[in-house]
Amino acid sequence: MTFADLLDAVRALGVDALAGFDRDALIAAGVDPARVRALAGVHEVYFGPTRFRAQQRLGVEAARAGGHSLDKLVLIERYMANIDDAAARWRVRRELLSVRGSHAALRRAAQQAAPAPERPAGPDRVRVSRTRGGKRSLTVVGSQRRMADLEHALMGRAPGVGPAGEEMYDALWELLDPAGDADAGAGAGAGGVAAAVPRPLLLIPLASWVRIMRGEGDDTVLGLSDATTMTGAEFLNQVVATGAFELEAALFHPQEGAVNLYRTARFANQKQRDLARAVTPVCPVPGCRHGAEACEIHHIQTWKHGGETNLANLVPVCRYHNRINDDDQPVTGRSNGRGRIDTAHGRPTWVSPRGYPAKNPHHAHFGAMEQLFGTDPPPG
Ligand SMILES: [Zn+2]
Repeated sequence: MTFADLLDAVRALGVDALAGFDRDALIAAGVDPARVRALAGVHEVYFGPTRFRAQQRLGVEAARAGGHSLDKLVLIERYMANIDDAAARWRVRRELLSVRGSHAALRRAAQQAAPAPERPAGPDRVRVSRTRGGKRSLTVVGSQRRMADLEHALMGRAPGVGPAGEEMYDALWELLDPAGDADAGAGAGAGGVAAAVPRPLLLIPLASWVRIMRGEGDDTVLGLSDATTMTGAEFLNQVVATGAFELEAALFHPQEGAVNLYRTARFANQKQRDLARAVTPVCPVPGCRHGAEACEIHHIQTWKHGGETNLANLVPVCRYHNRINDDDQPVTGRSNGRGRIDTAHGRPTWVSPRGYPAKNPHHAHFGAMEQLFGTDPPPG
């Protein structure tokens, strides 16, 4: 078959090609199932049983007279889904069948005649994305009035010489952090956004500590308990050099575990929470992106089932996964189908309803035990 043959075949493919439509035969011929579904819909409209027999007959004639390709007929049906009433659908369909010209021209006419209904905006909310390329995005949904006010305030602070979006970004931080020291890493001035609240814990394996202090660890990536990272160089410049960065560093010894908390003047309770965050810097449920800072401290063996408030029994779990955690399964033997946090090889780990442990691939490798002993279970 040559290209000219292909062109002839495409031109010849109109509404009549669907008269003897056979779904299974198309699937067997290797046609994309989504395409088969679309063609089945077109077949149903022009050849299927209907109350609108006269409209159907006129529709087939119009499709034939317009020489409409199957692609165009599929396009029309995609927009017909936006119209609830069957009679109105036939009216608009025949209107579109009278449109001559390209696929794009037909699409424009369809957008006019059968626009997609506006999707409900949902509640006012703020959403923070995962880290991608070292950055996160913040989405704020609210009333158009408030958003317009915010945009107006940001544009008022933008110098108006560069790209508006980038200038508004700087203006936003100026608004949130009037003292202007967010970039310096310190807690912000009055009314501003502190660089990190509550203070994240910086996890430093002993070997990395030694390398960084020797000045050889610039590229070493350290994990923080708010699910962000910083390099050894940033650590030296922001934490050690200035002493201003309100960051607490926890150092771990390979055998002894937690060696020390820097600048520590905390109650045992707070220390337990800090160390639990160090061992598990992210909610342990696979796929969850909540850093330990945003988590609740969960008793692995629950308090009501006799669990103790000691370090081995404490793990940070995000609010949602704490709520659905299957607390009762170890006692009742019945699963709620949502899985639970348990201890595997000395590390808090999510266990599926069928009993299979699974790690959270997101950030969990920065956990203190993983950093010190690797990701495999320790020998013995
Ligand atoms: Zn979670």
